[in-house]
Amino acid sequence: MRSAPPRVEDLVARARAVIPGGVNSGNRVLPWPFAIVDARGAYLTDADGRRYLDYHAAFGPIVLGHADPVVNDAVRHALGRVDLIGAGVTDLEVALAEALVDLVPSAERVLLTNSGSEATYAALRLSRAATGRQLIVKFQGAYHGWHDAVAMNVITPRERVGQTDRLSGGMSDEVIERTLVLPFNDVERLTATFLDHGGQIAAVIVEIIQHNVGCMIPTKPFLEAARRLTEEHGSVLIFDEVITGFRHGLGGYQAMVGVTPDLTTLGKAMANGYPIAALVGRVALMDRFGPDGDVFFAGTFNGHAVGTSASLATIDRLRDGDVHRRTARLAGIAADGLAGIAAELGIPMTVGRFGSVFTPYFYDGPVTTYVDLLANDTALDVWFRRSMCEAGIFMIPTAMKRNHVSAAHTDEDIARTLETARDVLRTAPSKGG
Ligand code: PMP
Repeated sequence: MRSAPPRVEDLVARARAVIPGGVNSGNRVLPWPFAIVDARGAYLTDADGRRYLDYHAAFGPIVLGHADPVVNDAVRHALGRVDLIGAGVTDLEVALAEALVDLVPSAERVLLTNSGSEATYAALRLSRAATGRQLIVKFQGAYHGWHDAVAMNVITPRERVGQTDRLSGGMSDEVIERTLVLPFNDVERLTATFLDHGGQIAAVIVEIIQHNVGCMIPTKPFLEAARRLTEEHGSVLIFDEVITGFRHGLGGYQAMVGVTPDLTTLGKAMANGYPIAALVGRVALMDRFGPDGDVFFAGTFNGHAVGTSASLATIDRLRDGDVHRRTARLAGIAADGLAGIAAELGIPMTVGRFGSVFTPYFYDGPVTTYVDLLANDTALDVWFRRSMCEAGIFMIPTAMKRNHVSAAHTDEDIARTLETARDVLRTAPSKGG
């Protein structure tokens, strides 16, 4: 914020002295000092006592609300008797794997990791082993984690669309060259790519709703083409449901759309913010990780009682569908409300929304493929978010990042958000700023 009060400033200065950039994940950098000391329900409180209504949800995991008492109790209870063993298996790991097999259509076997990146890494390694091939297909706008095969072409500037847009220095050229980046929702390009390279493609990895660029919904023909082409050419189809799994439904988006991949990655909302993720999939593939298989999978902290107990409790809370129905209703009110306010004020806006997730884009028009998004007025988008933050409504000030409604948000919270948005948008600079 413009005149950040001293305790926040002090913490951020100390952070910057010992942590590169002062944050523990690249995308957490904000253009003003930000340090949180309390997060409960739908609200964050910074080190100076300033409260924010939170739509960021830590990039998505917080589906029930921060520090959900039921999940926290389950974790405390589990930790009273078990933590991490590192040999054999715990009852919590078994119960969670059984729950995932029960809930997720593609899940016949389950492996637990600590992050989505580890899950997508393992999925790609398994795909290469199973096919004896090296090429990976990903789509422009999707994020699948920080490792070299996928850390490219997420929010790509106009001039780099169609080229490799790597997220980092130090990546292996050889690995990058083995990833083909295609436009999302483009059946023709996907079909042509299989015609040209079908025999070399190990896997197609799909961020099934492209939430890393807000809310880009896949067309059914696109998902069906991905399913059919991978089957015809002997490639592995991976749905990355790290964001969509649990947040939109316990079976993931695949259960809603009726297309079943070979492998699925899950994470984020699966434990309401506790660190755990999973790779699930068909037995014939997943068993290659077993003692008789040829694929290595390991991790000291995999299956820790913190994550497994939190996940079991989160699944329990989500089971009757009430949270999904309520949060979708509230996100719908927020999305429609924002679009209505923008229309009244003559501001071009399209609001992408699925379930509890909504993203205002500052342009009129479709949200079908990445090129559509190049019309977004980035300056106005960031200005809007920053102004909302200044007014106590936390929407991370990065263009096109999604907002999440949790079970802790109320009708009053949404109404206040819309009032604030109206006040903010009334003062919108005409061409961003
Ligand atoms: N896949 C998707 C779709 C994601 O959004 C993310 C994280 N934003 C990842 C994978 C990587 O997960 P993690 O940050 O837990 O490594």
